[in-house]
Amino acid sequence: MSYKNELLNNLVERFKSLPGVGEKAAWKMAFHILNLPKGVVADFAEAIIQASQKIKKCEVCGNFTENNLCYICADNMRDKSVMCVVQNMKDLLAFERTNGYCGVYHVLGGLLSPMDDIGPEDIGISKLLKRIKDSEISEVIMAIGPTVEGEATAAYVSRLLKPAGVRVTRLAYGLPVGSSLEYTDDITLHAALEGRRDI
Ligand SMILES: [Zn+2]
Repeated sequence: MSYKNELLNNLVERFKSLPGVGEKAAWKMAFHILNLPKGVVADFAEAIIQASQKIKKCEVCGNFTENNLCYICADNMRDKSVMCVVQNMKDLLAFERTNGYCGVYHVLGGLLSPMDDIGPEDIGISKLLKRIKDSEISEVIMAIGPTVEGEATAAYVSRLLKPAGVRVTRLAYGLPVGSSLEYTDDITLHAALEGRRDI
């Protein structure tokens, strides 16, 4: 037996399409929405539409921004000679939260994974290399979690950059092997950054 209310079922399906939202949670959210004042719901929906329409990727580093350059790339106080290469936006956020890093970033948007047929072009390695060659970057920190794909990606980038005389470093261990950076606490992450080593 299924519940017969097309609009409500549709809303539940939308919630279920979000990451980490199962059947129960989707119904809970849908009922919550129906009990909210209409204005609050309109503001909520508008916030989703505005963010989706106006936020794009920084043309230099891939961070989210409403402008061509993100606030980090546009900040003259940031050290433009140090670049932290991260897997995704969630990891960039994790490093920003530590308040211990003042260089710039490069968001890859994925990791090398031959098993899944993900090669250098799929994660924009040539764009990364071009950016490094065209700028004054002297150190590239491969700030990628210690997973098999993370190690492979770090080693690959390092091999390409070493001949150009760029220092390539890796986060210090102390991070649990196979762990995801976004769930690592600020202090551990900061220590991993401070204790980085050459690769
Ligand atoms: Zn940027």
